[in-house]
Amino acid sequence: MTGDLVDLVGKRRCYLCKSSVVSMSHNRRQIRFYGLRAYYRCGECKSYSLFPKLNQTEIQNLYSTKYINEVNPKVDSIEQVNVNRFSLLFEYLSKESVRTEKGFLDFGCGATAEVVIFAGELGYKAVGVEVEATTRMEAERSSGKLIIFPTDLQNYTHEFDIIFLGDVIEHLNNPLETLNDIVRVLSPNGHVVIQGPLEGAYTLSNFLLSVKSKVLKKHPQIFRHITYLSQHENPFFKHLISVI
Ligand SMILES: [Zn+2]
Repeated sequence: MTGDLVDLVGKRRCYLCKSSVVSMSHNRRQIRFYGLRAYYRCGECKSYSLFPKLNQTEIQNLYSTKYINEVNPKVDSIEQVNVNRFSLLFEYLSKESVRTEKGFLDFGCGATAEVVIFAGELGYKAVGVEVEATTRMEAERSSGKLIIFPTDLQNYTHEFDIIFLGDVIEHLNNPLETLNDIVRVLSPNGHVVIQGPLEGAYTLSNFLLSVKSKVLKKHPQIFRHITYLSQHENPFFKHLISVI
């Protein structure tokens, strides 16, 4: 599915739990990319998502190294090497790496592929996924690991013990379909670790935005990456469980 997810009367709906209780985020800036796009926050599952959605070509262009370097090379390079962004994941991977040859998949590993590199150093059989060809090649060069396209996942079956998605879901055309594809390649007792899509990842650009908000005395609240959600109470997880 591409385009906006709207109901019959034209009201926007959450891409994850389908709730119509959504409002434009004040913490996330709008972006101009093939038209103006804004992040909307779901009042029920607390996730946020980009409206209108990007089509497949637009997603590839958004994640191309060419676009990333042209738009904001300074901020991006600082964010990419900010290991604190993944510190909890790294802690988790270190604890879990008791058995060698455990399969690890980073869906949306980025050009620097730092999580794939880290997992490989811990002894995981680490594989990355990237949507765009130049970014995929750059990631392969950075990590020395196999980086595949999302469609290549069909060649795998239940072989990844840990699958990670960092700041990915909010940009997907159809997040539930992608999550189903991911669950298909997860080992029987495997874990999916999702970072985001809750509002306001603690990145440098969000930090600068929060400073600006404080100066302008508008929306000074800073949301962090980590929000604890109950599997049974959160409508996103309820819906996800019913789908898979
Ligand atoms: Zn929702």
